[in-house]
Amino acid sequence: MKKTIVWTFVGVLFCVYVGYAFSQTLADIYIQANKPLVSSTELASTPAATPEATETVSHNNITPTPEAIETESPEAVLPALPACESTDVPGIRHIVLDEGARSLHLPETDSLEVNEQVRNIVFTRAAEHTDGLFFASRYSLYRYNDQLVGFAFTFTACDADSSLTETKVLMTYDLLGGRAVAPDELFAPAFDFAAATAAVLDAVHTVDFTSLVFDTAQAVFLSNNEDGTCDEVMVPLSAYGDNWQADAYLLRYYGHEESSPSDEPAAPSGEGKYLAITFDDGPESTHTARLLDGLAEHDAKATFFVLGHRLGKTADLIERMVNEGHSVGSHTYSHVNLTAVAKETIAYQLDETNMLLKNITGQEVLLLRPPYGNRNAQVAEMAAERGMSLILWSVDPQDWKMRDARQTADHIIARAKDGEIILLHDIYASSVDGALLAVKELTAQGYTFVTVDELLDMNGGRVTGGIYRTGKGTVSK
Ligand SMILES: [Zn+2]
Repeated sequence: MKKTIVWTFVGVLFCVYVGYAFSQTLADIYIQANKPLVSSTELASTPAATPEATETVSHNNITPTPEAIETESPEAVLPALPACESTDVPGIRHIVLDEGARSLHLPETDSLEVNEQVRNIVFTRAAEHTDGLFFASRYSLYRYNDQLVGFAFTFTACDADSSLTETKVLMTYDLLGGRAVAPDELFAPAFDFAAATAAVLDAVHTVDFTSLVFDTAQAVFLSNNEDGTCDEVMVPLSAYGDNWQADAYLLRYYGHEESSPSDEPAAPSGEGKYLAITFDDGPESTHTARLLDGLAEHDAKATFFVLGHRLGKTADLIERMVNEGHSVGSHTYSHVNLTAVAKETIAYQLDETNMLLKNITGQEVLLLRPPYGNRNAQVAEMAAERGMSLILWSVDPQDWKMRDARQTADHIIARAKDGEIILLHDIYASSVDGALLAVKELTAQGYTFVTVDELLDMNGGRVTGGIYRTGKGTVSK
């Protein structure tokens, strides 16, 4: 599937040189943050290829370091990922595993599924070169938004016979869905993106169309050149016109949270002034933490409908939510449309998430926000069997679409009235900013932000299996 380019050389110097060429493609933010393994000039006299290896020996007489001749599976050698470094990119952390002649650099995200796939890719390559002189994995980051990120992995191995192997793998991931994204999911359905790509490249490139990474300006494919080298080939997204549909992908899978008919500007109300602000699709390590800071400043309580698959790396945020008086509900394990999957899948999506949350908080999970607001009698019944209620919403600023803090805040402020449930997503910086603007201004107007549970308690209490759009009682469907 992925193009693998292999060179075999007798010449040691070329091996050394090419072994370092890979680092040129590293994302700048990462290469600056990490000490280079060793410079190419050092390498010529330091074949063990670690910064710690100061012994000078001739490359031809190298004795592999103990680390380099370990034969255990990579998982056995690397039982757990060590502390990682944060990056400037929300939701992405950088892991460095430098051990003797093996240097593994890999990304870590908030998605357990994506992390597992990344580790499989990297550790599988590492396991193929455990008896070599040198193995390194590097990656470049390509980011479209907080949700769609790509990693261009480069694996460089100098094997015991001095043969050099360079392998490149491009992967694009949907961090919210916890899944790899295939190129054909990013283009218009009938569009021949391979032909369109070939048309803008010179004939020298033979491009692998099975994978790509991209940012907001360009798509990157791998090419297998006639001279045996391998390139990352950039194609401006403008070359595809309207057939480039990464935004459509996001809307297709995540955008269609339905708007409620009651989502209309509020008439002034003389009743109590309690609002429930809710956040779906997180937790997200950067934005959610900042949101919690801001809510604490205004003494505002919120309800978080979280995705089970994000909990492995964000348990601390869940603990913080509970400790700071917020409520935590389920948004399923991996954001599935519960009306489109088998009963067993619904059960898994609910039970796995509830179990993970209970392990963190010690509390039963009683609130479910079905993805897209989609529910039917079966979903409601299965939620009821678990003691849960379905929480929809009455104010929807469509923050995921607007990505504009002021517009998001203005929408909320214009519709605020006692008992409303506000839908937001704590995976976007603009949503967090908009939420905090609205909280600040509405608090000044005399509103109090409470959790969904508290809002329901004020209005007669929560009904198991009930479906709520506002705090003012259940709706029939
Ligand atoms: Zn959602």
